[in-house]
Amino acid sequence: MSRILLVEDEEKLARFIELELRHEGYEVEKAFDGRIGLEMAESGQYDLMLLDIMLPGINGLEVLRRIRRASSLPVIMLTARDAVMDKVTGLDMGADDYITKPFSIEELLARIRVALRRKAAFREEKELLSCGDLTLDVSRHQVMRGGKEIELTSREFSLLQYFLENKTIVLTRDQLLEKVWGYGYMGETNVVDVYVRYLRGKMDEGFDKKLLHTVRGVGYVLREEA
Ligand code: CA
Repeated sequence: MSRILLVEDEEKLARFIELELRHEGYEVEKAFDGRIGLEMAESGQYDLMLLDIMLPGINGLEVLRRIRRASSLPVIMLTARDAVMDKVTGLDMGADDYITKPFSIEELLARIRVALRRKAAFREEKELLSCGDLTLDVSRHQVMRGGKEIELTSREFSLLQYFLENKTIVLTRDQLLEKVWGYGYMGETNVVDVYVRYLRGKMDEGFDKKLLHTVRGVGYVLREEA
């Protein structure tokens, strides 16, 4: 069930939208204030946000600007009639869509469905990574090769995910250390080589085609050899 965050200070309108959305099977939470709406959106618990522009606390455009620093949460702006500038600014700032008040509930529902579908398609594309016959499913935390599941530790999984996200790009040990272990890593510097060895043992050994290659003097690369 999709969770919708509704940020709208006109309480009667908010209540009406909430009831209609619940009737359609959505979970709905409301905020009447921009600041609170922003905090709720940043919790990452929602699938979509309906955001009014004229709000107490922080206005809707500013809420949108701050959310877009770190999140791709789908946002549909609720704009007042004739506020053309608001619409343009909202879309420029990363709103997915807008709807002009007064609107029919059917139109709102249609726009919500479109935004949620787009999000789902995007997520599927992003969460299934592959190289040759190897696939990594981010959301299910699952790696498959040649029809068999490969068991990885969480560090090996992160390392493989980073290789897949940068397929065919040669990555240095320093890059891998920084991205997979983090800046603060203080342990052995050969940890990358050790983990690449573990990973190879699980995902390449026993297969005809090797995917993870050493680039002498530089680092490693994940790619399908011709
Ligand atoms: Ca308002």
